[in-house]
Amino acid sequence: MPARRLDGTAWAERLRHKLEPRVAAVRRHAGRPPGLAVVLAGTHPPSEIYVRNKIATATAHGCHAVLHRLPETASVDEALVLVRQLNADDTIDGILVQSPLPAGMGTDAESRVFDAVDPSKDIDGFHPVNVGRLVQKRQALVACTPLGCATLLDREEIPLRGRHAVVIGRSDIVGKPMAMLLLHRNATVTICHSRTVDLPAICRTADVLVAAIGRPGFVTPDFVKPGATVIDVGINRVETPEAAGALFAPNTPKRTQFEAKGHVLVGDVHPDVADVAGALTPVPGGVGPLTIAMVLANTVTAAEWRLGLHL
Ligand code: NAD
Repeated sequence: MPARRLDGTAWAERLRHKLEPRVAAVRRHAGRPPGLAVVLAGTHPPSEIYVRNKIATATAHGCHAVLHRLPETASVDEALVLVRQLNADDTIDGILVQSPLPAGMGTDAESRVFDAVDPSKDIDGFHPVNVGRLVQKRQALVACTPLGCATLLDREEIPLRGRHAVVIGRSDIVGKPMAMLLLHRNATVTICHSRTVDLPAICRTADVLVAAIGRPGFVTPDFVKPGATVIDVGINRVETPEAAGALFAPNTPKRTQFEAKGHVLVGDVHPDVADVAGALTPVPGGVGPLTIAMVLANTVTAAEWRLGLHL
């Protein structure tokens, strides 16, 4: 029996609508809507799409959302000046600096700029204060993608207590905070990465498997325990007929889409995993929409905490 589809698009819509009374409460108390500022530096086509979605979602749900652009040639100091202005702006509750920053800003630019964001406005949850608070299970703004995955697991009532959860990927943005959120739900958590030995064998012991790697179709059916829940975080653009052919059989919808458009979006999980897993998030339509919904949720949460509304 094919895996149950965990519909991120549908959950994201429900979650966004549940936020509307909270947006209204912020408006009542502050006399203004929750405010989101997005900083986009340089020209990076995927970032343009992500930023557009975040701004449109926040605006559609009653928030004040502004985009601040910096040119590709901007220095890290210019980015820092902008972040400090936004920190001081009382109408802004959430600040999001879109990654990646232009290479010209230097290798340590992201940590410098992310560290400059006021932790109470850090809706990406990247600031060391929020990371530390998450680790200690205290009130924290948590990175949107793992928060979206955890929210999906909660809403779908996937059992986690005492279960083995395996996270593939140890990035600060996804893998590590995901592992913490699973740990806080009483799962026994294993974090795997590029140096892990015998990855498929470890993954096969997982009741819940989260793939956040960035390699199309990397997780094949031999990684998956029959009936396991699989969360596919990866978003990869497949652009060659060889890669598309290795992932999708002829006449399947994705293969047809590739043949029509010359590219297709694929997760880190191979489509054949649907024959083994008990439940699986699709790509697109799984984790992606939940990430955007969590940008809105974190903006509202940051506004509430800053106003003392939701302690
Ligand atoms: P990253 O490159 O920072 O981290 C990738 C991780 O995968 C690393 O920790 C690495 O150790 C691990 N890895 C790489 N090769 C491996 C291998 N052969 N075996 C085992 N582990 C391996 O990436 P990231 O920012 O964590 O993102 C991961 C994926 O999630 C990407 O496809 C990204 O586009 C996607 N993503 C999606 C969303 C969303 O909203 N759906 C948000 C963020 C990231």
